[in-house]
Amino acid sequence: MYNEFGISNKAKELVLKAEENLKEEFKKIDELCDINSLKVLNAFNKNNISEAHFGSTTGYGYDDMGRDAIERVFACVLGAEDALVRSQFISGSHALCVALFAYLRPGDLMLSITGTPYDTLHEVIGIKENKSSLKSFGVKYDEIELKDNDFDYDKIKEYLKNNKVKLIEIQRSKGYSKRKSIVIEKVEKVIKEIINIDKDVIIMIDNCYCEFVEDKTPLEVGADIIVGSLIKNLGGGIAPNGAYIAGKKELVDLAGERLTLPGEGREVGPTLGINKSILQGLFMAPSVVASSLKTAVLTSRVLGELGYEVEPKYNEKRADIVQNIIFGNEDDLVSYCGGIQSASPIDSSSKPLPWDMPGYDDKVVMASGSFTQGSSIELSCDGPVREPYIAYQQGSLTYSYGKIAVMKAVQSLINKK
Ligand SMILES: *Cc1c(COP(=O)(O)O)cnc(C)c1O
Repeated sequence: MYNEFGISNKAKELVLKAEENLKEEFKKIDELCDINSLKVLNAFNKNNISEAHFGSTTGYGYDDMGRDAIERVFACVLGAEDALVRSQFISGSHALCVALFAYLRPGDLMLSITGTPYDTLHEVIGIKENKSSLKSFGVKYDEIELKDNDFDYDKIKEYLKNNKVKLIEIQRSKGYSKRKSIVIEKVEKVIKEIINIDKDVIIMIDNCYCEFVEDKTPLEVGADIIVGSLIKNLGGGIAPNGAYIAGKKELVDLAGERLTLPGEGREVGPTLGINKSILQGLFMAPSVVASSLKTAVLTSRVLGELGYEVEPKYNEKRADIVQNIIFGNEDDLVSYCGGIQSASPIDSSSKPLPWDMPGYDDKVVMASGSFTQGSSIELSCDGPVREPYIAYQQGSLTYSYGKIAVMKAVQSLINKK
């Protein structure tokens, strides 16, 4: 069967042998999955989820009991006072945008302490010119780079003493950068320092890709508000779209007023039949995130053994589901992505090629054969075509599919040689 699928004995054995040495790592991931499953089940039980919550509303979406229950369940799972979980959010970027516009007013100052934020936020903030940016409304912005893959504590403290900051953004996952993603202990430490100097500043976390990777959420270590996408971790590969904003009730309500309209806020928002999918997605999420983590750990071990630089290493502590492979040349990057694409359930015969994409300076090569467009809790692999040719791989709905895809991608590298 493997041979028929284009996987040679060599590629298969290489991956299976690497897998044998990952028992310890996989055991930790299984334990994490148990804890997160317990959290989810507890939240379902506490909120008495029943079939009635699968019901749907149309039009204004008044009195959608399923939607309200979903928000209570998410709040419970995330350790939040409250949560806004809506399909009216196009994706995580939109939710981040709504949150920023909800909290910042003309003259306010926003500070990123993890360097330049994710690409899709550049025009939102006004780092890149846009007539509708926060900057165009008179919101000021500044950023402090990370230092040696950690927060630049001295600079942050100095800055907060000399400036009145309204909102601090912390982006945990690395995006298309070379830095490491930020584990929860570091988030906890920096929040303590921030609060020591200014207890009023709103601490907002871009939590994309980080849910269920560790057993604590940023809200449980002092953050005010967290934002994430439902076509990533918490959607479990089943939610058709959407995003969440969770944390302090007052801030969640403000986001509701901005998402819909002042005065109606969270009372409106039809669910159009997706309540069951969102609940089922969250129910599956601990296990799907665990499959993604195992696929990432396996990829790291195999590609490391093949001599490529990988980040994180297979046995390193992880903050998110993203695995980097630093290929060092365009050819290997494109071949690897081609292998991943060929092992996808959808569009397996497509060949990913470097392409100009809106919002990116360099060409990007992108493997994504997903059921849901752009879903990256499903296995996907992409990277900007520039030195040092890094692949950013994430996801896999099951570990078996992830493992097969790694074999196929390794085969693709072997074929090239
Ligand atoms: C994916 C991602 C986003 C945006 O999420 P979308 O759902 O793709 O809009 C924002 N920040 C980070 C760090 C991400 O990884």
